[in-house]
Amino acid sequence: MSTPNPQSLIPNLQSPPVIGVFGSGQLGRMLALAAHPLGIRVHTFSPERDTPTGQVAAQEICVSYDDQDAVRAFVRGVDAVTFEFENVPSHVAEIAAEEGKLVRPGGHVLHVAQNRLREKGFFAEAGLPVTPFALVHSLADLQAGLAKLGTPAVLKTAAFGYDGKGQVKIDDPSQAEDAWQAMNGQPAILEAFVPFEREVSVVAARGFDGAFAAFPLVENRHANHILDVTIAPAQVSSEVVAEAAQLTRRLMEALDVVGVLCVEFFLLPKKNQRESIFSASSASASFASHSGRLLINEIAPRPHNSGHWTIEGAVTSQFEQQARAVCGLPLGSSEQVRPAVMVNLLGDLWAKGEPDWAALLAYPTAKLHLYGKSAARPGRKMGHVTVTAETVEEALETALSARKSLGGR
Ligand code: AMP
Repeated sequence: MSTPNPQSLIPNLQSPPVIGVFGSGQLGRMLALAAHPLGIRVHTFSPERDTPTGQVAAQEICVSYDDQDAVRAFVRGVDAVTFEFENVPSHVAEIAAEEGKLVRPGGHVLHVAQNRLREKGFFAEAGLPVTPFALVHSLADLQAGLAKLGTPAVLKTAAFGYDGKGQVKIDDPSQAEDAWQAMNGQPAILEAFVPFEREVSVVAARGFDGAFAAFPLVENRHANHILDVTIAPAQVSSEVVAEAAQLTRRLMEALDVVGVLCVEFFLLPKKNQRESIFSASSASASFASHSGRLLINEIAPRPHNSGHWTIEGAVTSQFEQQARAVCGLPLGSSEQVRPAVMVNLLGDLWAKGEPDWAALLAYPTAKLHLYGKSAARPGRKMGHVTVTAETVEEALETALSARKSLGGR
């Protein structure tokens, strides 16, 4: 018998490996569902009760992340630790490491991803193409940043921002004071407004041994800053696809990520399109030199909404891949089996009461995923639907039509 590798947790009927997840949303839920067939259990820790993850996990612990004794007790009951959102306090990863558990991704990855300034600074230092940006700690910094980057620009809080929260667009330098007020004195980042042709992303996994597997590049369409539709694969040139995979690999290696990570990119328009789009803004020189290329917007060191299609559309889902990477098992194939489109189901769909699920399920290729959240609020992610088909056009048409059949939108 071979000697067990301390980096790996091998499925074992007598004593199944346990992944402890900090966070309890839909990402943890889909991880738990994907881990089950591999003989791996999931425990979840978060301040909430009856959560999307807790409903399907083997154990749900409902305590504040600040309760360090409870964090330690939870960690002692699992074999490996992972995170389903990046804004977990840093002591959590530290305690898990102190307890000698596998922590994947490591605390250093969360530290970078928790803060847009650190994140963009890291990309720039690693020589990765990033949206032009400036650090803002005061109104004077903001004014200097606007002078450097030009307008339009976007001011974002450095910490705790997602789905467009904590963001203000600045169209004219005269709006600087109001924009700075909106940051409530918190450190911020000013970004040039990117006149992107489209938004695309790559979800990829990296093993402890450096193994790497990227899912195909996908296109993401947003509504009100929230992901609305993912089209897999993205309908872009093979050069862009190759560049995205290569940048993702470089980024994951530079950051030494073990686990799953998503890179969101802006795809810049090609030169001839660009001439009519770009004004004389100071950032345009940088965009011009990247014509037709990719800029990194942000990363998420975990499975991502833009990878949900992999459950039906790829040989291995992003969640199974996460379970494998976290447990130090070989990665599965990330090959796509069929064109796929995912549409999100937001709480807005409940505006006129319960959506018409029977109408949706009458579409035989529409695969419904509900997250088990009992309160539907506008903008809240309640579920998603994936359709696979012969072509992306057919998948898109069916997915949009299936969602429309729910009424309410
Ligand atoms: P974020 O939370 O930074 O991912 O922003 C949410 C969405 O806002 C992105 O997916 C883009 O659609 C848009 N956005 C954010 N930053 C920029 C930018 N610098 N230029 C243009 N659009 C942006």
